[in-house]
Amino acid sequence: MSGLWYTEKQTKNFGITMKIKETLHTEQTEFQKLEMAETEEFGNMLFLDGMVMTSQKDEFVYHEMVAHVPLFTHPRPENVLVVGGGDGGVIREVLKHKSVKKATLVEIDGKVIEYSKKYLPEIAGQLDDPRVEVKVGDGFMHIAESEGEYDVIMVDSTEPVGPAVNLFTKGFYAGISKALKDDGIFVAQTDNPWFTPELIKNVQKDVKEIFPITRLYMANIPTYPSGLWTFTIGSKKYDPLEVKEERFHELDTKYYTKDLHKASFVLPKFVQDLVE
Ligand code: SAM
Repeated sequence: MSGLWYTEKQTKNFGITMKIKETLHTEQTEFQKLEMAETEEFGNMLFLDGMVMTSQKDEFVYHEMVAHVPLFTHPRPENVLVVGGGDGGVIREVLKHKSVKKATLVEIDGKVIEYSKKYLPEIAGQLDDPRVEVKVGDGFMHIAESEGEYDVIMVDSTEPVGPAVNLFTKGFYAGISKALKDDGIFVAQTDNPWFTPELIKNVQKDVKEIFPITRLYMANIPTYPSGLWTFTIGSKKYDPLEVKEERFHELDTKYYTKDLHKASFVLPKFVQDLVE
């Protein structure tokens, strides 16, 4: 890919294109096409099945917003599960919370972990932390086998295609509820309102039928389709909009702040219409 422009088709009629400095690794794994490239604008970047997963320049937005919104909403998160997330970014953010005693990562494709460690060390560098347990396996199966274990579960999966297709079903969300403790919280990345409004609508509807508190929040991620990304949070007891001031303590972040925690739930009208 070096010296060329690489295009991710975000819809069949629209895409993002970026200049590639060097191709670092390409292989067809058991689950997906894995590409790692150095890009001129965003540094090293991981692609799976032709879709941008994470980049050195903007990764902090997504990883901080997936992790800190639920972890500050929960009064004392100790046992955390990340489904997917093989690049290690969400785990890195989870470990910033001193209350967390154990963080389990269940990633279906070991090659994602291997090449993220090699080419994205600042993202994947915490996967060997003593508080982390890395399992290479199907998150859907792990959830099915778990009961009442986790304070917070984060679903950091690829789009609902290939190995992730089951991770956007009502059955999976019901399984998450079962795997959580009785005051647990879960967050899933739920794509963008410009190109996948139906996905957001369907996930919100399914999660609302399972969790008493269901909300949508957003962040700007320039390398993701449309740049406007959403996250769905389902909570059995704690409301992300009712976190006590004293709960927020300083963290080393570049995007997340306690004011942004609240502001991220303020939705533009066309997005509000999807969730109401
Ligand atoms: N931030 C990215 C996004 O929003 O698209 C996701 C990054 S992370 C690399 C996505 C990971 O989910 C991939 O490594 C993929 O292998 C993993 N994955 C997909 N389906 C899975 C499943 N059923 N169980 C566990 N991991 C899965």
